[in-house]
Amino acid sequence: MRIVVLAGGIGGARFLRGLRAAAPEADITVIGNTGDDIHLFGLKVCPDLDTVMYTLGGGINEEQGWGRADETFHVKEELAAYGVEPTWFGLGDRDFATHVIRTQMLGAGYPLSAVTEALCARWKPGVRLLPMTDDRVETHVAIQAEEGTRKVVHFQEYWVKLRAAVAAEAVVPVGADQSKPAPGVLEAISTADVILFPPSNPVVSIGAILAVPGIREAIAEAGVPVVGLSPIVGGAPVRGMADKVLAAVGVETTAAAVAAHYGSGLLDGWLVHTSDADAVADVEAAGIRCRAVPLLMADLDATAQMAREALALAEEARA
Ligand code: GDP
Ligand code: CA
Repeated sequence: MRIVVLAGGIGGARFLRGLRAAAPEADITVIGNTGDDIHLFGLKVCPDLDTVMYTLGGGINEEQGWGRADETFHVKEELAAYGVEPTWFGLGDRDFATHVIRTQMLGAGYPLSAVTEALCARWKPGVRLLPMTDDRVETHVAIQAEEGTRKVVHFQEYWVKLRAAVAAEAVVPVGADQSKPAPGVLEAISTADVILFPPSNPVVSIGAILAVPGIREAIAEAGVPVVGLSPIVGGAPVRGMADKVLAAVGVETTAAAVAAHYGSGLLDGWLVHTSDADAVADVEAAGIRCRAVPLLMADLDATAQMAREALALAEEARA
């Protein structure tokens, strides 16, 4: 079975660990979000690709969900001692090495997809990890500055520095309209048996991937079941501030509204958490098959069970 998964960072990575356990024989291709990428201290940082790579490769800081285990922060402290900005982005010493190698390879002319493959040769994530594009795409967020004025900041500044404490008025994946899917992305979609949207951020993770011209169309035309899992439980994100970016695109923070946002043109099936069983009828009325099952990734068993439910719903949709 060939499975394609569109993934952001923590939600995507944790789900993938469950999927790998639930379908050990499957050939899994992950299309990773690169809209969160940022250049810091001359280095190219790809937070979501790295979260997937470290989580599946056994190098992740489990409690935090991102960054390396057994991390130290000497480089960060030294940079701060020089008064170099930004100080709000937490790059650890071990993590720095990944960004140094990535930047060096990009500088030598390798595309991000080739660099990601090279990094994965060490981590052996057990999936094929492809960036959504080799082109530069950066998600920017428009916020209110002073009375009546707007300011546009990089997504990481909005998320990490401002902690999404101010309302987002618009979210724009800058460069997406000029970008092309990375090599292998459209082929993986067109030869997939099933396509999954893990509980990743619908706007800045999956939304950014779908903004790369050709990806949304390829998924809609693949002719195979497309099943998603809600990142929203009980009217709130399970973790993080996805409600802020959903509001920016005019989508309510509910499991049903997120399904409607993807739409029946894209989604065949949608899983909501058991406490959101009320949403099932609404989602089905919108033409999307829906089930209420436990959707909290508390441990590997619970997460693998979520993956089994997603694959079962895909089989139902196929039949
Ligand atoms: P990020 O790039 O690190 O923000 O990660 P993703 O975009 O992949 O996923 C973020 C989303 O995962 C958030 O909106 C969370 O609500 C969702 N999430 C995190 N843990 C869980 C969980 O255990 N269950 C569900 N259903 N969603 C989760
Ligand atoms: Ca992310």
